[in-house]
Amino acid sequence: MSAGNDASDGVLHPPASIAVIGSGQLGRMFIQAAQRMGYEAGVLSATAETPAAQVANWTVLGPPDHLPALRALADRAEAVTVEFENVSAPALRWLARRRIVRPGWRTLWVSQNRLREKTFLARHGIPHAPWRPVRTPDELATAVRELGTPLILKTSDSGYDGKGQVLVEREADAASAWGSLGETSCVAEGWVEFAAEASVVVARGRDGQAAAFPVGLNHHEKHILATTTAPAPVGPIVAQEARETALAVAQALDAVGVLCVEFFLTAAGRLLVNEIAPRPHNSGHLTMEAAYTSQFEQQVRALCGLPLGSCDLASPAAMVNLLGDVWADGEPNWSRALSDPGVKLHLYGKRTAKPGRKMGHITVLDPSPEQALARALAAKRGLMERS
Ligand code: AMP
Repeated sequence: MSAGNDASDGVLHPPASIAVIGSGQLGRMFIQAAQRMGYEAGVLSATAETPAAQVANWTVLGPPDHLPALRALADRAEAVTVEFENVSAPALRWLARRRIVRPGWRTLWVSQNRLREKTFLARHGIPHAPWRPVRTPDELATAVRELGTPLILKTSDSGYDGKGQVLVEREADAASAWGSLGETSCVAEGWVEFAAEASVVVARGRDGQAAAFPVGLNHHEKHILATTTAPAPVGPIVAQEARETALAVAQALDAVGVLCVEFFLTAAGRLLVNEIAPRPHNSGHLTMEAAYTSQFEQQVRALCGLPLGSCDLASPAAMVNLLGDVWADGEPNWSRALSDPGVKLHLYGKRTAKPGRKMGHITVLDPSPEQALARALAAKRGLMERS
């Protein structure tokens, strides 16, 4: 144990060794935040060339639910967090008997599965879209009858970025739509005519102390987040309600770490929770430059039992994702994109660009959030200009 640490009290000071399970860009940015604060940061990664393994102080190679890999992780890290929700509960429980693990397996268990997530929201009286479970042909018929069409069928397990989802426009299409998802356990969700999509990232410490970042306004393309602008122009009442709801979700889940709640916002100003991610979120990336404390630093602080930092924004900001599509015509024109001196570029170290793959993002701070977005989008267009 490093000097000055008291793991029995759940507090770890630098230079303790801490780790993340999962080795994509979220793990990479967690590691970079941990290193900046003087921690030694490792990763449990499938291969050595992943975005997180490239920057980690140490790497354990292996799948996240593999006992030898978990044992090696417990040997090297005093505390462990995750960058994705689908780490198995038995693996997390095994680790938690040996090391600090935040968030705990119960928090992840709920958000690993849409049926459990919707049941959780209903039980806690948190507003969300109408839904029905679909596990049998009878339940499918009931869902279509009670929700009407259009509706969306979403697989209960392992869906993200629109994967495992199908739109049912007419009652007659329901059976074939469910068939296209392998007739697996699903949630049928009523169609929401939303005016906008928004999200709130919250950080919550082990003592229950919690803080919410300002609301982000999100724009998706082909089910993948394209842009986030913060603060969202939703007015103070809706903003307050969104942050209170996100904090209530984190508390009800007893989440320790960072958690994101995604919302639909209707034209009448109603907020409906769409999804919960018990980890840093793509819509929180702009906090790296715009907030006093980034979502990744909050993850480090919560994991190590330190007081949380301020979630206040030093400036409005916008974030634009860079998907593999930007590479379609060759190497992007980095100089052109960076010709606006306020543009901040993040690349995740992924070697192969594929359409839809998140390769990096751009952030711009500007006193006007709309202007920040316009400048970030201009920079992205610049990437595809030939000089
Ligand atoms: P999800 O994977 O559940 O976050 O869904 C991805 C995207 O699909 C959302 O960000 C929405 O743009 C759209 N979507 C999902 N569910 C609904 C719904 N019930 N009504 C309308 N659009 C939806």
